[in-house]
Amino acid sequence: MRARGYALTELQAPLEALDFDLAPGSGEALVEVCGCGVCHTDISFIEGVPTRRERPLVLGHEVSGRVVALGEGADPALEGRAVIVPAVLPCGECALCAKGRGEICRRQVFPGSDTHGGFASHLVVPARFLQPVDVPWGKPLARLSVIADAVSTAFQSVERSGLAEGDFAIFVGAGGVGGFGIQIARALGARTLAIDIDPERLAALREHGAEWTLNPTGRSAKEIKREVRALAKESDLPATEWKIFETSGTAPGQELAFALLGFGATLSVVGYHAGEVSVRLSNLMAFDARALGNWGCDPARYPRAIDTVLSGLVALDPFIEFFPMSRVNEVIDRMRRGEQRKRPILLPDFDRS
Ligand SMILES: [Zn+2]
Ligand SMILES: [Zn+2]
Repeated sequence: MRARGYALTELQAPLEALDFDLAPGSGEALVEVCGCGVCHTDISFIEGVPTRRERPLVLGHEVSGRVVALGEGADPALEGRAVIVPAVLPCGECALCAKGRGEICRRQVFPGSDTHGGFASHLVVPARFLQPVDVPWGKPLARLSVIADAVSTAFQSVERSGLAEGDFAIFVGAGGVGGFGIQIARALGARTLAIDIDPERLAALREHGAEWTLNPTGRSAKEIKREVRALAKESDLPATEWKIFETSGTAPGQELAFALLGFGATLSVVGYHAGEVSVRLSNLMAFDARALGNWGCDPARYPRAIDTVLSGLVALDPFIEFFPMSRVNEVIDRMRRGEQRKRPILLPDFDRS
């Protein structure tokens, strides 16, 4: 079929409308896009982080939609189903996949980098790990697109941190991933602190997941650490084994998250920042702490991540905003200027004539 989308043609330039042919191959599904979230990774691709497929490339990796056609060998039960398309689609066959490390599968497909993505009317993806949901077409299904990346990545990082009930969880950066992460951590029984420079974001999270909030503006990382220690003391929180999540994807955020390390702490690096930061790596040794990276989410964790949303433990609506897909470049500009607080979800509005 002939699909339409918005493609990265030139770095640092607005996305351009593109018509292209799509047909599901063996094991693949053709998915009609209901909603596609816009992620900072899309901005990174526009700014020069290399995509795996060459340009022009339709971006977008946070998709919900419905299966409209299946290639040979794909599960016929998927026909017509509403689905969430995981941002990372592993092969399911290799040794890493067999170990449950699908998120680092070397044959994984990441829509909007390996293949044309979700800023489009349709996309083709491997069918195997599509996540069916019983949700009606339109905004109810479109809003779930953020599970494909922002929620599931946060979910994976929280689970992998080993977070347990009563742990002290600190999120540095309270945007999309951080905002969902703090709700997930709270739902799992952690005590939660959100750190962000944006007072509006902090106010929204005080209603959803953050027991405490802190705006670090104007203080050094050392001073912030002192404040957090004081908070832990007066609130009877654990003094050790903090679970720290770097979800800002900024240099000051990364420096602060590392500076918060203490005895037995776990630092989960979830946000992406292309630049370098200077840290004293020996703190990991001195505090017997550990640092983990997080890329995507293994499909095996998706049903649990979806449950936290559908059961109401994680609120989406205060943190998302819908836009017609034709306004994609305006949305991207808003994100690049730091003016877009809520996770934008693009709704395809292509002229069908
Ligand atoms: Zn993303
Ligand atoms: Zn694999």
